[in-house]
Order: sequence, then structure tokens, then C-alpha cells
Amino acid sequence: MLTKTEAVVLKAVKYRETSKIVTLYTKKFGKINAVAKGAMLTTSKFGASLEPMSYILAVLYKKETREVQFLSQADLIKPFLSLYSDYNKMILGLSICELVYKLMKFEEENLRIFNLLVNTLEKLNEAEKNEVNFLWFFIIHLLDVSGFKINFTSCISCGEKFSDENLSKKVVFLSDRGGFMCSKCSSSMKASDYSVATFKSLAWLEKAKIENVTNLKIQSNINNEIHNLLMEYMSKHFGELVNLKSVEVYYKL
Ligand SMILES: [Zn+2]
Repeated sequence: MLTKTEAVVLKAVKYRETSKIVTLYTKKFGKINAVAKGAMLTTSKFGASLEPMSYILAVLYKKETREVQFLSQADLIKPFLSLYSDYNKMILGLSICELVYKLMKFEEENLRIFNLLVNTLEKLNEAEKNEVNFLWFFIIHLLDVSGFKINFTSCISCGEKFSDENLSKKVVFLSDRGGFMCSKCSSSMKASDYSVATFKSLAWLEKAKIENVTNLKIQSNINNEIHNLLMEYMSKHFGELVNLKSVEVYYKL
């Protein structure tokens, strides 16, 4: 069956002498592998459309029984140029693609994930400040769509709604329950704790419209805490899959 679908290239590897195997997150079919014959040739009709993070319209020759599909055409829908020219953005964009590559199953269509992926890459491409916020924003929403929504509404111990009163200095995050304990309940706990600023930044990003994501300035020590918290939580649910090469590079910058 010859079919057209929008897609984001998650990964591309050389295959034989002149071809590439690409992993795409497609709008119609979710994650799939496809071979692009002749894509390594300088005269290739695919041009630069098969780099990771490319947002393309793909023409696939698709067979249900085949594990690797055949990509017959790919055209860039919108080039995300600054994801390639700005190193910081590139690492963040690659981290987002790596997450989808590792955590999503093959052939499971999910329009919310597809839209989240495209919109986040697009806004990251346009961003002029606080770019790392997009990675946190993406992870929070990816977790939500995957059934691991973090509870930012109320304390998972006493059930009180979070307020200035019960958020004073520290909170405890319980990764097995996907939620936080308020400062009152946390005071008697020896578990690893996080600052209230970490909680508030994440809670803000969860509610934020994507257009506003870069309006929040997060201090670097808080970014470190957010990174640790989200990685701890994702490891709990996805195991070793979340050891992200790109994110590690980012943190060594
Ligand atoms: Zn409490």
C-alpha cells in the first residue's frame, strides 16, 4: 500500500553502501523503521530531509507483514534550521527525539504524542531564551500521555491542596506514587527532598501554554534538581531506557 503521512525523523543510520534506515515517528502509524534507498548518494532525491529532527511528509510503501518499510519519498514540511545551527538547541532537540525513539513502541499510533513532538521541536527552533524548559515541558507531557502523570495538585500524604502555606522550604517526591508530599508532611521524612522552587517550576510548566514556555527563568541549581527528579521518575517506570546520551552531553556543557 502506498501511503502518505507526516513524520519526524528520530534516527537515521547508514545501511549498506548507499542507503539509510530511518526511524520515523509518523502521524498515521506511530514509530516505524523504513529504508531509504540511495539516501547516501549526493544526488539523492531525499536531500537533507532524513536528518534526525526533520519534519517531513513521507511517502511509504507499507506492508503489514514487514518490519522495515520502504520510504519512497520524503519532503521537508518545515525546516527547523536553528535546531542544527545552535548547539544548545540541537542537543535538546536530539534528547526529545531520543526519548520518543526509546520509549515509544513500534506501530502504536498516538496523535497526542505526534503533535507534542512536532509542536515542541517547532517552538524550540524559534526560542530565544530558556530553551531547556522545552525538554522539561516535553517530558512532563510525555509522561502524562503515557499514563504516568505527575500529581502537582495535592499532597499525596495528607491530601491537602498545595498552597503557599504548605509549601515552605522542601518537598519530598515519591517516584513510585508519582507525586509530592507537602512541606509539613516532608519535615518528618528522611527521603531525598527537593526545593519548593523545583516543584513550582514543574507545576508551572505543566500548566503553561507552549507559547509561554520560555517565559520562566529557572536557576541552574533548580534545573539540576528537575533533571534528577524527572530522570528518577522515568527510570522507575521505563527502566534503563531513559539513559539519554544527549541529555548527558547537555549536562556536561
Ligand atoms: Zn501533606
